[in-house]
Amino acid sequence: MHPQLETLLEIQDLKTQRRELGEDNSREVQEGVFGLSTEDALRMLDDKIAEMEESLPVQVRTRYRRVAARQTRVVVPVIRGTCYGCFVQIPTALASDADRNEEIRSCQSCGRFLYLID
Ligand SMILES: [Zn+2]
Repeated sequence: MHPQLETLLEIQDLKTQRRELGEDNSREVQEGVFGLSTEDALRMLDDKIAEMEESLPVQVRTRYRRVAARQTRVVVPVIRGTCYGCFVQIPTALASDADRNEEIRSCQSCGRFLYLID
């Protein structure tokens, strides 16, 4: 898999974690498990997310931020030729490329980054 695609997935993961951590009902448990305050944990996640975003090439980062401003999920799977962000059919050439996931691709309809799975 393209390293930048991996980074994008990791950022998405961290953001999901951040959202869950920010929800009040999980606070007590989290503080017990991590032994640090939720505020500290959130700050560390924010730092890590910022750091990873900065590691992306400017072109990818710009596109990423444009999509992230509108969508919760920025990277979505393509299953059987369908973008699971907007449920539009991806052009066959894009969906069945031999070196799939070795390039950064995005959906022409919704702009989300794509990774191909069967
Ligand atoms: Zn799409």
